[in-house]
This record gives sequence, C-alpha cells and structure tokens, in this order.
Amino acid sequence: MSLSAILSIRSISKSYGAIQALKGVSFDVPEGCVYGVLGPNGSGKTTLLGIILDVLQANGGSYQWFGGVANDASRKQIGSLLETPNFYHYLSAYDNLAVTAKIRGKGDTDRNAVLGQVGLLERKDSKFQTFSLGMKQRLAIGAALLGGPRVLVFDEPTNGLDPAGIAEIRELILKLNREGITIIIASHLLDEIEKVCTHVAILKRGTLLLNGPVNEVLVNEDQVEVMAQDMAGLKNALQAMPGIVKMTNRERFLMLTCDKGIETFHVNDYCIKKGIVLTHLAMKRKSLEAKFMELTN
Ligand code: ADP
Repeated sequence: MSLSAILSIRSISKSYGAIQALKGVSFDVPEGCVYGVLGPNGSGKTTLLGIILDVLQANGGSYQWFGGVANDASRKQIGSLLETPNFYHYLSAYDNLAVTAKIRGKGDTDRNAVLGQVGLLERKDSKFQTFSLGMKQRLAIGAALLGGPRVLVFDEPTNGLDPAGIAEIRELILKLNREGITIIIASHLLDEIEKVCTHVAILKRGTLLLNGPVNEVLVNEDQVEVMAQDMAGLKNALQAMPGIVKMTNRERFLMLTCDKGIETFHVNDYCIKKGIVLTHLAMKRKSLEAKFMELTN
C-alpha cells in the first residue's frame, strides 16, 4: 500500500452464483482525492462499494481502510450514500436528520453543522416536500456527513436529478473535498467523473481496465488523418517521423496518433520534405466519450 492511501483494494473478487461481478480488482485511493469508479451499468461498481462498506462479502481479496483492517473505529470515519434515505415528506430537514441519525446509530448533535455544510441551514425548518431535487439530494449527503467522516462514498450521486440539481451536487462535492474530505464516487457518467474527480478507476464487466490520475488516464487523443497517391511510400516515410506514436489504416486513410504538440502542418511539412504530396490531411480530435466507449464496449 502506498503511504498516502486511505483505501487499499487488493484482488477483490465477487460472484453472484454464475455471475462474476468482480474479477480481481486492485487499486489505491489516495487521501484528499475525489476518486471516481467509472464503468457502464453492470460493470461491478455498486458491488465494489458494497464490499468496501461491509454490506457485501467478497469471495476473494482484501481491502484496508486507513492502513488497517476495517473495524468500528474506522467505520465511524466513513460516510456513505448508496441509496437515498427514506426522508419523511412532512418533516423538516432538521427533524429528518434526527430520524436518519437514529436509524443509523449515529449521534445527531452536529445536525446544524451538517446542514450548514450542505447549504441548507436557512431551510432547516422547511418541510422536505418543499425542497427541489438538488436540495433533497444535498440533505441525503448531509445525512452521510453526520458524525464528521473523513471519507464519503457515493453511488451515482446525481442519478435522477435535473441539470440544476446535478450542478448543485457537483459544487457540493468539490466544496466538501476542499474542506479535506476524501470522496469516492461510482458513476456510469464520464462527464460526472471528468468534472469532479482527480482520480479514476475504469471497470468493465468486473475487470479493472485502468486507473490513475484523471489527467493521465483520461487524456484527449488527437489523430491526424492522411492520404497520398502512394500510400505505401507515405507509410514508409511517416514511420521515421518523430512524435508519431501509432499508425493504423482506417478505410482509405492512414490514422496517425501523435504526441501532444504535433499539428497537421508538421505532418504536411515532413511529407513535403520527403517528396510526398498529400491528397488529404485532417485533424481528428478523439473525444473522451469515444475513448471511454472504445474501452468499455
Ligand atoms: P454496476 O453498479 O456497475 O451497475 P453491479 O455491481 O450492480 O454493477 O452489478 C455487477 C454485476 O453483478 C451485474 O451483472 C449484475 O447483474 C450482477 N448482480 C449485482 N447484484 C446482484 C445480485 N444481488 N444477484 C445477482 N446478480 C447481481
């Protein structure tokens, strides 16, 4: 385990009968980050969160919180939101938190502090039924904050929200992280992970495809599309061009995956110097969406 890991997951596997939901998943969550567990529906995200929260038992592998085996003391430092709590429509935000605290066996002395953290202190006496979708979800996050956890674990925190609600939750997640809370989020939405997470682990059918800092793992890839009359000569010449990482044939074109900083005019310039006249030259920006689809489909 690396020194700063708040959670360390090692070779976790889990089967439901014949369905293997997780196949030996390992990664570390560094303290202070917003860690996204990203993958399409059915890839094993909820199962993984269930295991690290002791709701489900793994068939193999292990995990450590704060450098040790999970125990009552470590569990107190973890707040989670796997499903929206059943709030009572006719009760106020303040009273609903008392009910949730009681159900979860947590103290409720910090209800005002928690309501302040999620921006609902001024509405603490309003009935839950008067809240917008975003406010309802903020209250659910407030419930996870009872007891002052060091880590928050969320499963699809923006599911079912309208765009305004999604924006509110994003802002709140970033704010809580700035206050020093490490946050782990499972989501099938690339957009959500890209906008709030510092780190990501991508799952596909229970297998970890890749993990690491978002700005390393989810980089936009640019490709240059070229064609010439003499395709063999073109390929041969470009093989020696510095900054070209990969060449693939796509339909009639040659697709060049390039290092950052290589633009179309560099390719054109190089080809002219080699005596090759390009009949087609275009920059294709490969979106993250396309890359994510490619990884997970
Ligand atoms: P995700 O959260 O990424 O959508 P899940 O962890 O919910 O993925 O599911 C992973 C796989 O395990 C899926 O194939 C799902 O159908 C299966 N699965 C999840 N829970 C159960 C269960 N209680 N019984 C049987 N299969 C399950």
